[in-house]
Formats: sequence, structure tokens, C-alpha cells
Amino acid sequence: MLDPLLSVRDLKLSFQTERGELRLFQGLNLDVGKGEVLGVVGESGSGKSTLAYSIIRLLPPNARFEGGSVVLGGKDLTKLSEKQMRDVRGRDITMVFQDPTTALNPVFRVKDQMLKVIKANIGVEGAEARVLAMGMLRNVELPDAAAIMGSFPYELSGGMQQRVMIAMALTSNPQLLIADEPTSAVDATIQVQILKLLDRLRREKGFSVLLITHSIAVAKEVSDRIAVMYAGDIVEEGEAEKVVDSSKHPYTQGLVKCIPAPRARHESRRDLATVPGEVPDLTDPPPGCRFHPRCPYVMDVCRKTKPGYWKAGDSHALCYLYEGGKA
Ligand code: SF4
Repeated sequence: MLDPLLSVRDLKLSFQTERGELRLFQGLNLDVGKGEVLGVVGESGSGKSTLAYSIIRLLPPNARFEGGSVVLGGKDLTKLSEKQMRDVRGRDITMVFQDPTTALNPVFRVKDQMLKVIKANIGVEGAEARVLAMGMLRNVELPDAAAIMGSFPYELSGGMQQRVMIAMALTSNPQLLIADEPTSAVDATIQVQILKLLDRLRREKGFSVLLITHSIAVAKEVSDRIAVMYAGDIVEEGEAEKVVDSSKHPYTQGLVKCIPAPRARHESRRDLATVPGEVPDLTDPPPGCRFHPRCPYVMDVCRKTKPGYWKAGDSHALCYLYEGGKA
């Protein structure tokens, strides 16, 4: 990995719920290199979006930070005041959300929303801000920037709205862009275009990307490295191609089996394969390896004690199959 831009160390986070305490992260570690795309992959409920919101410290009131550090460019974000954190959000770290139709305000024109974001994030107003906004809209390959500026979000397609969101996220030249399922609300053709666009912008501007996605195939396409998350644990991490083409952890192997064959790409989601079993209820998690109730290779020790994070071939895996690094 390149020099780390972001280092998450020993992150512990829980939630108070009606069913009791939900202990999601119990010492999570993660690095994103400078200029790198790290894909974080997992099913719904794995904790990948919560990881993103932990980094930018936008968590619901029932969340409890229990320890650890989140260091961005040498600055520990967990130690900043809320005011300092507001400067980090929107300037150093920006985010592109899953569904642009809910992220963009439907009653304001694109122009008003972009100018407001530019003023809030970098303090630029008036003609200078308009020039910056128009330039960013062109940079995200929107054909007629002036017309887009004057449009309401509902007048734009989903793909165009997502490009507007990307343009807004990049106006402050962030160090880190968090993209939370940025293509799940658009169709497959637009998905490829958006991913290529993000890749081009990242190469040109040099920011890092934390890509949150449920699709390991999407992650492989655009990421340098992949971290696979299951029930709040990073269970496998390594170079994107290695993680997908020679997966080590049984959960990753299950996700890879779910990648639809090309001929199945037009089947409905209902027909696509899923990893057998369900993500556990983390108010009452299984002891030992959290994946053991779904694992085809489960051993006695897996049911009792949590495995270590061992070297597994070219990757690392949280699994007894690689105990002591015997890959
Ligand atoms: Fe399966 Fe055991 Fe590895 Fe968990 S530690 S993934 S149960 S083999």
C-alpha cells in the first residue's frame, strides 16, 4: 500500500438499542493510502456504511464511541471539537451518497445548492463560485453546465444527478472522498460511466477514495485494494484482484460465488445467488468467529474463540484456516 492517508486503529463502537447493547466494532483497523481506492465490501448490516459515518463522526445519538483513533493526514479526528470536525467534513473529507434524489434538495436549483456548498466549504462566493461550479460540472462530463445550473434536480436523470453530487463533493479538492454505494441507484450502463468518471477524477486530482459497496465485482473493477467486512469485522484484506480471484476467507469466497455470470446480468435481483444464512444479530452475537454459523469449514475452536488476523497468501484473513500465517 502507498503511504497511508487515513489510518483507523483499534476502533470500538457500540449502539444502545431496544434489544440491548449492539457491539459493532471491537477493535477495527483500516488504512487508505494516498491516491488509493479502497473498496469496503459486505452485505447489508455488515457495518460498512457505519464505518464511513464513524470516520466523519456523523453517528446517531444512540452510538457510543468506546475508543481508538481515526487519523487523517496526521490529525486524529476523534480528538477534534465538533466545530473543527465541521471544517474537516466538506473540506478534507467529502461524501457521495447512494441515492442522489434524496441527497439533493428537490426545491432548489442545482446552482443554489452548489453555490451554498462552495461557500460553506471553501468560503468562495459570487462570480468566482459560479465559475468554479461551472468548471466542476464540465469536469464531471455534464454536457451543458449552464443549463444544469438552472435545473431543478427532478429535471435531471439519476446519472446526471449523481454527477452533480460528485461535482459538489470535489469543489473543495478533498483528500478523501467517501462514496457510499454511489452506483446502486442507477442502471448498469450508467454505473460503468460513473465508476470510470470517479477513476479519472481520482487519477487527475490525486484524492483517495473509500468506496462502500455490497458488490465485490464493482469493488474489483475500480479498487486498488479490497477490505471485506462481516458483522463489524474486516475478515479479509488485500490487493483487489487477489481478494477476488484467490479469495481466502470463506465469507469472501461466498461473495465471489454470488457474482452473476454475464448471461445472468439481466436477471432480477431476486434470482441472484446470496451467501447462505443471515448476518447475525449483534446484540447477541455468536461466540468465537462471528461467521461460524454460516461457514462450511467451521471447526470446534471457531465456535469458542475469535480467530487472529493472519497472513493468507497475498492477503490477510480473520480465520483459523490461516492460523500462524500458514497459507
Ligand atoms: Fe470458518 Fe472458522 Fe474461518 Fe470462521 S474461523 S471463517 S468459522 S473456518
